[in-house]
Amino acid sequence: MAFDYDLFVIGGGSGGVRAARIASGEYGAKVGLAEESRMGGTCVIRGCVPKKLMVFASSFPAAFEEARGYGWEVTGARFDWAAFRTSLEAELDRLEAAYRNTLKNAGVVMHDARAVVVDAHRVRLASGEEFSAKHILIATGGWPFVPKIPGAELAVTSNEMFHLDALPGRALVVGGGYIASEFACILNGLGVKVSQYYRGAQILRGFDEEARGHVSNAMRAGGIDIHCGTDVMRLEKATGGIKAVATDGTEREFDLVLYATGRRPNTGGLGLEALGVELGREGQVVVDRYSQTAVPSIYAVGDVTGRVNLTPVAIREGHAFADTVFGAKPTFFDHALVASAVFTQPELGSVGLSEEAARETGPIEVYSAAFRPMKTVFAGKQDRVLMKLVVSQATRKVLGCHIVGPEAGVMIQLAAIAIGMRATKEDFDRTCAVHPTMAEELVTMRKPVRKG
Ligand code: NDP
Repeated sequence: MAFDYDLFVIGGGSGGVRAARIASGEYGAKVGLAEESRMGGTCVIRGCVPKKLMVFASSFPAAFEEARGYGWEVTGARFDWAAFRTSLEAELDRLEAAYRNTLKNAGVVMHDARAVVVDAHRVRLASGEEFSAKHILIATGGWPFVPKIPGAELAVTSNEMFHLDALPGRALVVGGGYIASEFACILNGLGVKVSQYYRGAQILRGFDEEARGHVSNAMRAGGIDIHCGTDVMRLEKATGGIKAVATDGTEREFDLVLYATGRRPNTGGLGLEALGVELGREGQVVVDRYSQTAVPSIYAVGDVTGRVNLTPVAIREGHAFADTVFGAKPTFFDHALVASAVFTQPELGSVGLSEEAARETGPIEVYSAAFRPMKTVFAGKQDRVLMKLVVSQATRKVLGCHIVGPEAGVMIQLAAIAIGMRATKEDFDRTCAVHPTMAEELVTMRKPVRKG
């Protein structure tokens, strides 16, 4: 049977674009791709990229303060949100155009429309146009989830944070994950008075306990009012802003309430369940390790599968899918040992097992150092860096590495190579230090601080 396309991709984000580009550009498949919003998806348009630019913008006040310690006179510094937002929008336009060019050059046919799945080999665009395809790839990503509390409509999500008309004076951030903690720091850096309510005992659940403590202490010291064990019961319109009635009995007013309480897979109304594609409890597409669903011609990659919701993971899954289906090279992405960084201020970089998780696997040794780095000591600041290695006593392998401090994301990327190659503590010790740097601590920690 002749199909209109060899592959039809629904979703022009990180995973979908990589799969389309490789299938078409490298393997010569005839590929169509539908995107209902802007090409580039969450990462480029409303996630990692604009977020990181906001992190940069928000880090200048601390840099100015440091500069003073180095003899610089810094006066009259003022942040112009409107000017920043205009530049940000221009940058996103540039990046979206680059994505479109990449797809065009790879020979992918783009459809700027929402698409749904009609059957195992057919998709329908919002215009009513239908296409047949030998394979269909679902790469529709996720969407912010806001719990149904009274007044939830008064809150914004991360999607809206890049388009605010003006910066608020007082903001409440609800949640304790990546997005909540990053935005709490961004807003704080930009001069907003920030409170963060998190229902659990400590923010950044899932990361190493010591590292979580280090980040939250630093955030508090930086001026963020973090309330753990606190959730919002309802939001109400108030004369001066939005009133948040919390489980700890407080009622406080804010100008902006940001809900960052997780994201859900974008599978609603796609027509998948009716075809026999299995969906999980939160609506995620259930796939095997080759990203294939229960319907053999339909695959899914990225956040919509709810495996590890990170851009580089979606890219690797999309690439592996194209290699498997169009390159005759069965390939899957191994989700173990994915390094990640939380762009809080200070940053947290992490790879492998936390101390707590490693202890479950057998006896361990913990090497950890918290110190004031040269640059901040000189500037008279109290910021401390944390470097931590978790080592198996039996195999001497480094099971986990956790770094809190400036450029922790960059450092963890490099540590991840060694740990991915199963480096032992002795391999780290044998490596000569690069001096004077913060990272040298990773190869100079000689005595474990804890064992067992
Ligand atoms: P997370 O899953 O990281 O955090 C969600 C937070 O909301 C948790 O603290 C959770 O609490 C809390 N929460 C969930 N439901 C409720 C509820 N009903 N009421 C109150 N609180 C609730 O999600 P994010 O939205 O922060 O980020 C989504 C994903 O995006 C992340 O998992 C990550 O993979 C990715 N991401 C990665 C970034 C990076 O790499 N730097 C940056 C931003 C996002 P609890 O802990 O108790 O469940």
